[in-house]
Amino acid sequence: MIIDGKKTSQDILEELSEQIKKHQGSRAPCLAYILVGEYEASHLYVKRKVQACERVGINVKGNVFEESVCQKQILELIHGLNLDPTVDGILVQMPLPSHINAQQIVEAVSPQKDVDGFHPFNIGRLLLGYTPFFVPCTPLGIHELLMRSNIQVSHKNVVIMGRSNIVGKPLAALLMQKTSQTNATVTVVHSHTSNLEEITLNADVLITAMGSPELVKAHMVKKGAIVIDVGINRLHGKLVGDVDFKNVEPQASQITPVPGGVGPMTIAMLLSNTLKSYQMKAQLT
Ligand code: NAP
Repeated sequence: MIIDGKKTSQDILEELSEQIKKHQGSRAPCLAYILVGEYEASHLYVKRKVQACERVGINVKGNVFEESVCQKQILELIHGLNLDPTVDGILVQMPLPSHINAQQIVEAVSPQKDVDGFHPFNIGRLLLGYTPFFVPCTPLGIHELLMRSNIQVSHKNVVIMGRSNIVGKPLAALLMQKTSQTNATVTVVHSHTSNLEEITLNADVLITAMGSPELVKAHMVKKGAIVIDVGINRLHGKLVGDVDFKNVEPQASQITPVPGGVGPMTIAMLLSNTLKSYQMKAQLT
């Protein structure tokens, strides 16, 4: 069975839109983004995020810089956005050019406006099992997709392929949380893992986030496993995941497609985090 991330994300956008309508009369939630340089994929991702915001009624403030921008200019902008009471979320579209210190930029964003969930304060809280202000959007979207597909990870072996700071690591931290909706037994593999197949074959839920087109073949997947493909790759001009979908699908009980799986969920969670930030502020004032 195919897990339809597109449909689920659209349901979530409808729900967000309804919630935002209830706040009519006060200002709308607002997401500020920072986009640097000409990298085509980044422009495309931001465009999709802006379109989704417009659809649900979230205002957007765009801040676009040329590739040559210096660290200080971005930091000054972030400091201003941190203090701006009309801005709920700050998104810094990655990657940044190599002359920019991305870590310093991420750390400059107020943890309370860090709707991407990348600030060490939020990541640290997630790891410690304290409530972060925000959980990173892709891990959060994967968990939401699993829950809305009635897939429990408690008592299951979950294998995550990839240990990046934006997907693998926070996803492992999220799924191993001590709650009835998580409680997974998590194994993380990476490019230095020996006996990869032995580990993936033990997965009840296999989540791939490597950026390696169609690396996961049918013989690496246990019969009846749930397969969540985070990868977005171009192969012979076509968009594909990290999973050889055609051959793995008959082996899996449920599987996400690429495109139309995790990708739209990531955007939905960015909007959900922005609304959460807005609602947190409303409770404070
Ligand atoms: P990343 O930072 O490049 O990390 C890739 C991870 O995969 C690394 O931990 C790497 O191991 C591991 N890896 C690479 N090749 C491997 C192999 N042959 N066997 C085992 N592990 C391997 O990537 P990322 O930012 O997490 O993104 C991963 C993929 O997800 C990309 O295709 C990206 O476009 C996609 N993505 C999709 C979404 C979405 O919303 N759908 C969001 C974010 C990312 P090492 O650590 O040892 O190098």
